[in-house]
Amino acid sequence: MTGLIDSASKKKLIVSPIENGTVVDHLPPGTAVKIAQMLGIMGDSVVIIGQNLKSTKFGRKDLIKVEGKFLGEPELNKIALLAPNATVNIVRDSVITDKRQVAVPDCVEKVALCANTNCITNKENVPTRFLIASKSPLVMVCSYCGYETKGEELKLKD
Ligand SMILES: [Zn+2]
Repeated sequence: MTGLIDSASKKKLIVSPIENGTVVDHLPPGTAVKIAQMLGIMGDSVVIIGQNLKSTKFGRKDLIKVEGKFLGEPELNKIALLAPNATVNIVRDSVITDKRQVAVPDCVEKVALCANTNCITNKENVPTRFLIASKSPLVMVCSYCGYETKGEELKLKD
């Protein structure tokens, strides 16, 4: 009955609480580490990352818990690029005080890379900028070269 032990230990992980901070849930499997790095939360905070957890909605999911940090609008927008179905819970004194759905913004600056290798933003130290032509599926138009970067080609800055 390894399946039972498996799910029991995972359940324990899921409910492992934080007192004050942010829970980012319903991330596509394999994206949690990338998203945590993109958010720049890996250095100084207590970060709990769950990978390939069972999800009733999506089969498998990743999850991030950050102690002592409350993620705001700019961070939620970034998360949406990689995880359009993510939900974000703000926890204060062990109580969820705010539940939010992420949303792809109309304009994306700095965090993403242009998929056109000849683009000036890939050759020189120029911050990238994209207008969003389509949110689902994701299509981002580079403000410098006009190239359309699609969701599957999306690369984020390290
Ligand atoms: Zn470009």
